[in-house]
Amino acid sequence: MATSTLPRMLTKALLDRKLLALTSLSPSVRHLNLLEYQSKDLLDKHGVTVQKFKMAESAEQAKEAVKTFVPAEYVVKAQILAGGRGKGTFDNGFKGGVHLTKDASNVPMLVSSMAGHRLRTKQTPKSGILVRKVMIAESVDILRETYFCILMDREYNGPVIIASPDGGVDIEEVAEKTPDRLRTLPVDIHQGVTDQMASELAAFLDFKGDLQAKAAGEIQALWKLFLAVDATQVEINPFIETPQGQVVAVDAKIQFDDNAEFRQREIFAQEDTSESDPREVEAANHNLNYIGMDGNIGCLVNGAGLAMATMDIIKLHGGEPANFLDCGGGVQEEQVKNAFQLLTSDPNVKAILVNVFGGIVNCATIANGIVNASKSISLDLPLVVRLEGTNVEEARRILSDSRLPIQTASDLEDAAKKAVASL
Ligand code: GDP
Ligand code: MG
Repeated sequence: MATSTLPRMLTKALLDRKLLALTSLSPSVRHLNLLEYQSKDLLDKHGVTVQKFKMAESAEQAKEAVKTFVPAEYVVKAQILAGGRGKGTFDNGFKGGVHLTKDASNVPMLVSSMAGHRLRTKQTPKSGILVRKVMIAESVDILRETYFCILMDREYNGPVIIASPDGGVDIEEVAEKTPDRLRTLPVDIHQGVTDQMASELAAFLDFKGDLQAKAAGEIQALWKLFLAVDATQVEINPFIETPQGQVVAVDAKIQFDDNAEFRQREIFAQEDTSESDPREVEAANHNLNYIGMDGNIGCLVNGAGLAMATMDIIKLHGGEPANFLDCGGGVQEEQVKNAFQLLTSDPNVKAILVNVFGGIVNCATIANGIVNASKSISLDLPLVVRLEGTNVEEARRILSDSRLPIQTASDLEDAAKKAVASL
């Protein structure tokens, strides 16, 4: 195998997809995101000013919702885990995931134009994301839109605040075209955001007079929230000023540190997995590092590097992997069974390739796992197994004694060829 072809193939086959998230090769890096309405509930609980809102999934629910509060104007917002909704388009042709209306009787129509349809924005896949929930909020008058964000930044080994008086728009554009309108301020995590820092930031955001103190108060509340919920990012865009002299967080995106899941159970329990690949949700429940793909050869591999190489070599021999699946260096029998269940429940999978290198793991354990899993789920797909390493002789004997129609392979190349041929 020409190793020089690997990076290019990897780039094409994998980086196109969401494997970028795996570059750390750690199964635990996920970063929980919440929908806007969930984030705003948290903001509200932590004393940040947000608009009053109700949620609806249908025109009927919207009719009920508008009876409960009567603002001068409503804002109706599709809930998806992506920004740029205002300028997005739905698959039914309806334009805009954020609509203003003064007439309560328009709200149900707006909700039914959004709920149940896919919204495509600059930040979503081309096919868009299905909208299930719609927020109906009291609209605020906007005098000015600013940008405010706190995030954990590797470069600073800690939190930084990014702020700009020019909010509402793409912040990347501000950074590129008018970098002096963007300020990056590292925060000492022990000292936190001091009163002086908060006032300076409020001033930089062009809040004047009484509003400056108000904005500084909101900034302090956002900082306290950032710490309290173990966020890796709290982004408010826009962070606005009203003609009535209020400072309001109009849009919110919060990301959480997955390592803090154990002490943020209530937040993590809110995770909306309806946008995720159901195979990935199931795999995560079994602690398997899994990413679904479009091919038909299901792979079960231990070690992320070996899993990548396996996918590559399948492609090299003309096949398409159905998934990336790293069951970890310490894989045990039970996980093999879970992995087999996961692979066989995917109707696209037409063959399975197991590629395990026994370093810490005992190959015999894996062989038993394969045999028991195949029997218990009455596996009727071609199965190619390549085992190497610790106790491999015993493992080969277990496989052949099982009398199951398992094809064993001598090495990775042989395994890939056999898997492709078995289709
Ligand atoms: P995004 O497009 O997904 O970022 O959604 P946002 O919540 O940021 O809304 C997009 C834009 O719609 C904002 O930048 C505002 O200009 C406008 N907008 C959102 N909510 C309101 C509101 O309550 N009142 C008014 N007047 N405009 C709003
Ligand atoms: Mg926004």
